Formats: sequence, C-alpha cells, structure tokens
Amino acid sequence: MSNGNQEVLVHVKNMKKYFNIRNKGVLKAVDDVSFDIYKGETLGLVGESGCGKTTCGRTILGLYPVTEGEIEYEGRNVTNFKKGDLPWFKKRAQMIFQDPYASLDPRMTVESIIAEGMENFGIYQKPEERKERIYELLQLVGLNKEHASRFPHEFSGGQRQRIGIARALAVDPEFIVCDEPISALDVSIQAQVVNLLVKLQKELGLTYLFIAHDLSMVKHISDRVGVMYMGHIVELASSTELYANPQHPYTKALLSAIPIPDPEKEKNKVVLPLEGEVGSPINCGPGCRFASRCKYATEKCKTETPELKEIEAGHFAACHLFE
Ligand code: SF4
Repeated sequence: MSNGNQEVLVHVKNMKKYFNIRNKGVLKAVDDVSFDIYKGETLGLVGESGCGKTTCGRTILGLYPVTEGEIEYEGRNVTNFKKGDLPWFKKRAQMIFQDPYASLDPRMTVESIIAEGMENFGIYQKPEERKERIYELLQLVGLNKEHASRFPHEFSGGQRQRIGIARALAVDPEFIVCDEPISALDVSIQAQVVNLLVKLQKELGLTYLFIAHDLSMVKHISDRVGVMYMGHIVELASSTELYANPQHPYTKALLSAIPIPDPEKEKNKVVLPLEGEVGSPINCGPGCRFASRCKYATEKCKTETPELKEIEAGHFAACHLFE
C-alpha cells in the first residue's frame, strides 16, 4: 500500500496472531492483516470490542509473539524481535495503555514510574539529569514538578493517563501504540487527553497507532483509519474519505450509529442496524466473517474470504461486492 512519497515506518505483512484456547480450539484474534504506518501520521484502528485491534497493536510491539507473518520497522525485520533488535526497537516503539488505574504501579512514585524506562536504557548519566528530564516530561504532559514525589492514587484518571504518556515519552520514542487511551476516562476529559496527544505529535514528530472503539474521536485524531471486524481489516482509507464515503457494509453500519450534533439531521438520519448473529473467531474457517450480519451476503461470501483491495486511490475494502 503506497502513499505517494510518505515514508513507511511500520510495515505489517500478513500478520496472524492465534491463541490456543483449552478444550475449545484456536482463537484467530488477528488473521492475516497487512498495512503500513507512515512516519508522522496517526493511523486509527477501530472496531467493536473483541475485533482484534488491541491484539494487533500488542503483537506489533512484541508483547505477543507473532503466529505468522512479518513486521518491519524502518525496514528492519522486528518480527518476534530477532536477535539483537530488542533494545533498538523497544526504545523507538512504546505503548500508552487503556487503563490508567491498572497500568501504574501503586507502590511507585510518579518519578520512579517515569524513570523506569530511562534507567533500562541508561538514558541519563547523573541524578540531576534524571530529575531534570522527569520535570521536563511532567511539564510536557501538563503536570508539574511537585507531582514527581506523589503516588498514582493521589491523581484523577486524566492525570494518571498523563503520567502514562510521560512514561511512554521518557525514552524519546518515535512510534507509540495508543491502546484506547481515553476509553476509561470521563467524557469531559477525553478531549483534553486527545488534544495533548495531538500537541505532542506535532512537537515531537511522533507516529501513532491509535486504537479505539469511539469512531468520532478516531476521526478527530487520525489521518487514516482502518476498520477491523473479527480479526480482519475490512476497510482502510483516509479519515476524511472513510467518514464521507464508507464502502464496506460493516463500516456503513458503524458510522450510521454515530449521533449527529445537529438535532434536525439526527432526527432524519437512517441507522443501518447490525442484525444477525455475531460469528465466533474460534476455529472459524474461510469466508467473510461479516456474512452472518450482512444483508448482501451471497453463497460466495460464506466460503471465500474477501481480500483487502484498493477500490479507489488510497481507499481499500475487503468485500466481494467490489470485485
Ligand atoms: Fe457482505 Fe459479502 Fe461483502 Fe462480506 S463479502 S461484507 S458478506 S457482501
């Protein structure tokens, strides 16, 4: 998938991540996905809970071993961290976790939480440098140096997420997987955290994989958006294009459910219901995973998996309707 002159930072090729579930079979959480993430962009990854988006992000970062397929970072193969690549890649690629309550060790001060990664990579030489860098990071995320000696329980959810962001930034990364970073926060502070991420991206030249189920927030932050359904990417396009001109029946249904702020338009809009039984990603065979809920499904849809193909410049969809 080329995108003009944009430089590819992360290249994911036919990546699969399967889990063996005892007495049940194989859970195909991510099943043969391919996409690129360009330097400096935000690629949003959306879909319902359990569609494989978080597994996708974690597998790219090596938190889960890849079952099959390849991941390249700046042209280097980092699939399952081939020997010697671990520190190199780990320093460049970080993660912001979904739950700011569970992801911070309650026994550690903010200072120790932020410094952990710096220490692992030997980033500072002297204690004063370490302190200075921590104060700088706290300021960068909208906190201040008085917060350094406090413990996570003394902070609100939004502030804890800021600590999580400072921790990810501590090793000066290029690429960050933001795993539903706002879904555990109050609606009133979600926008503040998103705006902070946008500001940091501009200032530090970061690249994001932004995972979320809230489609309206993903639109705001992403340059391009990929839609996942049961382990597959079913549609991928620029954010503007995807929201204005969705093509895959699943994307259309998801977007039709987003409330419109204009009461008149909201009253007249047509919501496409997602009916039918949701299939199981355990032991699933070939065929379109959306077939049981799709009103356009044919016999072919039940037996042949549609490939993600370019249907217009930069707009990809996996659906037999476009063949
Ligand atoms: Fe519907 Fe078939 Fe397209 Fe799947 S491939 S979305 S079942 S029309």
